[in-house]
Amino acid sequence: YLCLEMDGCRRKEAHVLVFPFPGQGMVNCMLKLADLLSGAGLHVTFLNTHHNHRRLSQFSGALSRLAQRPKFRFASIPDGLSEEETRSVFNFFDLEESMRTRAATSFRDLLLAYRDKDTDGWPPVTCVIADGLMPFTIDVSEEVGIPAIMFRTISACCVWAYLCIPNLLESGEIPFPEGADLDEPVRGVAGMESFLRRRDLPSFCRQARDQMDRELQVMSSVTASTNRARALILNTLESLEGSALSHIRKHSPVTYAVGPLNAQAGTSSDSGSLWQEDRDCMTWLHAQPDRSVVYVSFGSLTVVTREEYMEFWHGLVDSGQRFLWVVRSDLINMRGGGTEEKPAVPAEVEEWTRDRGCIVGWAPQEEVLAHPSVGCFVTHSGWNSTLECIAAGKPMLCWPFFADQQINSRFVSAVWEIGLDMKDLCGRSIVEKMVREVMEGERSEELRRNAREMAEMAKKSVAEGGTSYNDLQRLIQHIMSFSS
Ligand code: UDP
Repeated sequence: YLCLEMDGCRRKEAHVLVFPFPGQGMVNCMLKLADLLSGAGLHVTFLNTHHNHRRLSQFSGALSRLAQRPKFRFASIPDGLSEEETRSVFNFFDLEESMRTRAATSFRDLLLAYRDKDTDGWPPVTCVIADGLMPFTIDVSEEVGIPAIMFRTISACCVWAYLCIPNLLESGEIPFPEGADLDEPVRGVAGMESFLRRRDLPSFCRQARDQMDRELQVMSSVTASTNRARALILNTLESLEGSALSHIRKHSPVTYAVGPLNAQAGTSSDSGSLWQEDRDCMTWLHAQPDRSVVYVSFGSLTVVTREEYMEFWHGLVDSGQRFLWVVRSDLINMRGGGTEEKPAVPAEVEEWTRDRGCIVGWAPQEEVLAHPSVGCFVTHSGWNSTLECIAAGKPMLCWPFFADQQINSRFVSAVWEIGLDMKDLCGRSIVEKMVREVMEGERSEELRRNAREMAEMAKKSVAEGGTSYNDLQRLIQHIMSFSS
């Protein structure tokens, strides 16, 4: 495993193990980073949970493409949950706990095997890049003598807000008092005082009932732990989140901003999809006029109530716009005694949808966003979706649900001005009004222009000499330094 350098020194070959938290957004974006590292000539092992590896093998074009590379391989370990347990938003924190307690043991065994004697004849692992949601990986890796780097796949503004949680608790900003006005400004997240309101804080701040709230504590401590790693990677860019990045660097001095990774990887047509993509919607899109379609997707985890689903659908139809809507098989919340059937739909709504709409279970999102027929993106403001839309240069209408989505949507609307925020509102008349506003209202031209300019900025950041390009090169050098 030693190779001769130009200077005559012998060095180990760099072999990085990339380990995402088992969620669609994390897998997608860490697979893109893995792809880039492999493109730079490093050995890469991409570690999934068994559950996600099975789904990736079934549905992702990226898997078969990458698996053909001689220095790229996939591996998997159990996530500790039984096959019957759901891996949805409802038990996100159970999954987090299961990874931290049960999967950690399998991770350790695997690292030891890869460190000592690799059966595939691969060089030993020289660096671990793990999801920042799993700081236990730092302890396990360092204990077996392998340096670890954390990759947090959310926005920098949200990482910074999580780092401020202890201050917010201490100053009494959270938990909110009974009946609090959610439009009140929040003090205590430096750099955001002029626009951040209570309702824009990450959802766990809003849900917290007391200082010991489990979700708040997990997010706060997990985020604070990242500075124990050798470096932090974020899927963002300086020109978008420079202020949050400079605050984060006071906590984690070696922070690489390498995004948007989808633009940097440039392989938009094969994502790390864990769902069966319906490609017929591309044929449908080809037949629609330019900029006429509203693309709607709420990501991989969000669930809506039946009432929200129906109100949203009515609003969409009432807006008079064509639409392509991703309705996952588990989008509607069946909890609380609901039947398994979807709600009854009025004939006129069905008719409009048949004539001018297209509903799919899962779409090739990056391709859809880049399509000329798409005029705007109605999104839950997940960070991957937000960045994919920024790279495509389309305006957004945000309907955030949980985690970083509340703060992302505030940045989209009030800071970057590339969309509108429908936070906490879901009546049909609001949906109708806001969809119209983004597609053809007074501000639509301005939003489109801003979105196009931001796409240009993103393109520059990943082109040779751009900030994200340079940070990726520095990250590669950093990884190589572990094997010299
Ligand atoms: N996605 C997709 N097809 C869909 C819906 C979503 O490929 O129909 C992808 C999307 O491109 C993004 C990911 O799923 O990369 C969702 O990640 P995000 O961070 O936006 O949201 P999350 O699912 O984590 O809430």
